[in-house]
Amino acid sequence: MPSIELNTDAALGVAIPSRNARGRIARLGPVLDAILASHQYPALIEKLLAEALTLTALLGSLLKEPQGQLTLQAQTEGGPIDLMVCDYLGGELRGYVRHDAEKVAALPAEPSLPELFGKGYLAITFDQPLAKERYQGIVPLEGKTLGEAAQSYFAQSEQIPSLVRLAAEKRGDHWFAGGLLLQHLPEGEEGRERLHTRLDHPDWPHVAILGGSVKADELTDPALPLDDLLWRLFHDEEEVRTLAATPLRRGCRCDPDYVRSVIARFPVDEREAMVGDDGMIRVDCAFCSSTFAIEPGELA
Ligand SMILES: [Zn+2]
Repeated sequence: MPSIELNTDAALGVAIPSRNARGRIARLGPVLDAILASHQYPALIEKLLAEALTLTALLGSLLKEPQGQLTLQAQTEGGPIDLMVCDYLGGELRGYVRHDAEKVAALPAEPSLPELFGKGYLAITFDQPLAKERYQGIVPLEGKTLGEAAQSYFAQSEQIPSLVRLAAEKRGDHWFAGGLLLQHLPEGEEGRERLHTRLDHPDWPHVAILGGSVKADELTDPALPLDDLLWRLFHDEEEVRTLAATPLRRGCRCDPDYVRSVIARFPVDEREAMVGDDGMIRVDCAFCSSTFAIEPGELA
């Protein structure tokens, strides 16, 4: 296996066999700058999106199929943010946040999830086309941080004792984010039916304490390789295994032919209403801010 740099833009599988714990650790660096460069967001929104993309990478890298897709979508009501979407496909990440800039400017420095989203929830969709598996979980956007919300989601809806830590920080001109996801999966492989999960297994609190001791600046520090960080947290364990690393990069799947085909499906009168002063229909990709100019005549 080609070795990849384990400092940034990678998600790494983790297993602590003697404790029946497994999960992912990830750090994002240049991939965040690339995604954020398509937008001009206030720092607070950049930080939120960086954390959301980290969660997306942790969960997306759990998918077994190379063509599996993971989507996070926050639907909200009455908050400064009305939509946040991130997705993952084969190591490619993208995301955007639709928000009211004036309302965001009036927020405190560390807003809670309800302060950001109003009354909202986060839909997490796992899509594995080969196995024809599609699963959606709904996380209420309550509490202080996205990490907390994700952790209570796993505990409540999936009945798996879980630890989720997310952190994002701008160091100089560059964003770095990191995340740790650990789950107590006593029976066999990831993704198997978990009929025998015991919420009170003594191994779990031990792992949760060690994993929970990770500091935000350890998660975001690009000088600290992920495997070194795992060793720092779990070096007293009998064995800590790292599994294949997934490189992460920015990827947008918008494409001119697809955009044209979507517009072509609108009724003629609606298409006419879309034509701008220059005679073209312009469509923006919300993820990467690319603009597609379509000649209305092409669609006839
Ligand atoms: Zn795009």
